[in-house]
Amino acid sequence: MSIKPFSRTLGLIDIFKQLRPFVKPYRTMIIGTLLLTFIGALAAQVNPLVLEYTVDEVQKLTELPNPLAEGVQVLIIISSILFGKEIVNIFIQFGQKYYGEKIRINVSSVLAQSAIDKILTYRTAFFQNEDYDTGKLQTRIDRGVESLTRLVQNFFIDILPLFSNSIIALVIMYMKNVYVGLVATLILPIYFWVSQKQANKLQGVRRTFRMQRENKSNGLINIIQSIMVIKSFNREKYEGTKQFDLQMDLMNNQLYTRKTNFLYDAIKSFLEQIGVVLIILLTVYLVLDQTISIGAIMLHIMLFNNVSAPIRQLHRIYDQMNDALIYAEGYFDVLNSDDEIEESGSLVKSEIRGDFELKNVDFTYPNGTKALYDINMKIEAGKTTALVGLSGAGKSTVVNLICKFFAPDSGEITLDGIPLNSYENQSLRSHIGLVLQKNHIFNGSVMENIRYGNMDASNEEVMDAAKKAYLHDQIMTLPEKYDHNANQLSGGQQQRIAIARLFLKNPPIIILDEPTASLDAIATEQIKNSLDAIKENRTVLVISHSLSQIIDSDVIYAMEQGRVIEHGTHQQLYNNESTYRRIFDASARSMNLDLIADTLNDN
Ligand code: ADP
Repeated sequence: MSIKPFSRTLGLIDIFKQLRPFVKPYRTMIIGTLLLTFIGALAAQVNPLVLEYTVDEVQKLTELPNPLAEGVQVLIIISSILFGKEIVNIFIQFGQKYYGEKIRINVSSVLAQSAIDKILTYRTAFFQNEDYDTGKLQTRIDRGVESLTRLVQNFFIDILPLFSNSIIALVIMYMKNVYVGLVATLILPIYFWVSQKQANKLQGVRRTFRMQRENKSNGLINIIQSIMVIKSFNREKYEGTKQFDLQMDLMNNQLYTRKTNFLYDAIKSFLEQIGVVLIILLTVYLVLDQTISIGAIMLHIMLFNNVSAPIRQLHRIYDQMNDALIYAEGYFDVLNSDDEIEESGSLVKSEIRGDFELKNVDFTYPNGTKALYDINMKIEAGKTTALVGLSGAGKSTVVNLICKFFAPDSGEITLDGIPLNSYENQSLRSHIGLVLQKNHIFNGSVMENIRYGNMDASNEEVMDAAKKAYLHDQIMTLPEKYDHNANQLSGGQQQRIAIARLFLKNPPIIILDEPTASLDAIATEQIKNSLDAIKENRTVLVISHSLSQIIDSDVIYAMEQGRVIEHGTHQQLYNNESTYRRIFDASARSMNLDLIADTLNDN
């Protein structure tokens, strides 16, 4: 399995390489944004240059007899340049932000959708991985998409403009005077060093923050969901303390971050001022030496401001990049787990009879639990086969293998004499109807949920299926009828939705894994009747703890600890006095059958 815990082994270059296919469609937009960035960086140098010009011109003017009259032209030039630049800037900034954001939003949705499209092709085992418990897969994808997107955004909105601005400013400094350029360059490594220290100190703090916030909100959700248990055990104080501790951690973390940031920001300001002072000293010296003009003092100070601007942000950029590196790895792991893609044969059959045969099948779950040992079993077409056994005997695992959710370790499964592996998965599954003990109800209306069985079914067909599943009458009593939210139905009603889906799908092979386990006695009887009707001429595999559902099966397989112990008809197995008999007798006793029989006889 290629899933690794979060670790930082991907480099920035790797990330950009991996991102390439996702940003490629927006190439023109990216080139446009880069161009705008370049123009923006040039425009940022206009102010220092204009100021230099202004100071020098004003100085010359003051030496003239009537400076005010002569100066009008200079004022007009200065104001038109500055004004024109600001107008250009409006477009540049808008274009840069808008296109940067557009690229970010587009890339973000493509990244999210790609992950979903990809994992839908993965085999069931992938989803069983413990790494992906309780929403961890979603968190991993969400975080990956979020931080990669932020990286793209930062690149276009922060990193690129700031750094190009800085580089161009530095180039102009060198062009104007090499010595001043050199001083500005020499100060940079010290800035980098301090910024890196700051980033290192705060490394992971934002991540911890996010985790703490999630824990806190999860904690609240937990309280809401378990309020009855909390109250019944008088654990209010305990739960309160747990939340308080989380709150304190969060608070300490916040204070630490603020303190560190304030301290380093102060150091950086101080260093920046030292830089400014050095440049003032140098430029004043050069002015006095008559190497440069007075205006150049202003020019260099302002250019230096542009040079040092990105460094002020460096710790934040560094931290976010670090984040992206870490989470991107988790995301790309999910996206690139090609070895997890579900294997499928190519055989597509329009008609499948449903003769399954398992020969010497062994199976181990991905977590190492061995669930089946040397299983030999025949599920015959047109007949009803039952699997009986205590919980954990391996009955549902047999179903998992038959549906190709998992593949056996060894042994062979055939369907109609052809290896199951040869069948194309979707075609195979379109012939199988599965009703489980707990069926998934999607967030949506009853109508939508039933229609999941056959997306092309008309409303009438959906209602017809609901009638067969003894659900229709109950739905009609709901205020919104078929538009009612299916999640708000009772467990029994949800079970009938699953059965209605089965009626709608109308498959030749039906697998019932404890279909009436969550139903009351009356519903169980009704469902049994309708299932009996649908069983006609179909291949049925039924798993049930309820004797009534298995007693009339054509063949019963009794399983124990992953092995088939015996098989035969009810009568044969009863006479065998082995596993089946034990389960049968225990069920009869638990139902107090003697007393029930007496009551029925008395009446
Ligand atoms: P039954 O349906 O007879 O109650 P199962 O087939 O569900 O039994 O389980 C058989 C064994 O496999 C049990 O030991 C169970 O814990 C284990 N098992 C079932 N599902 C999984 C799974 N997804 N991952 C790991 N082990 C599993």
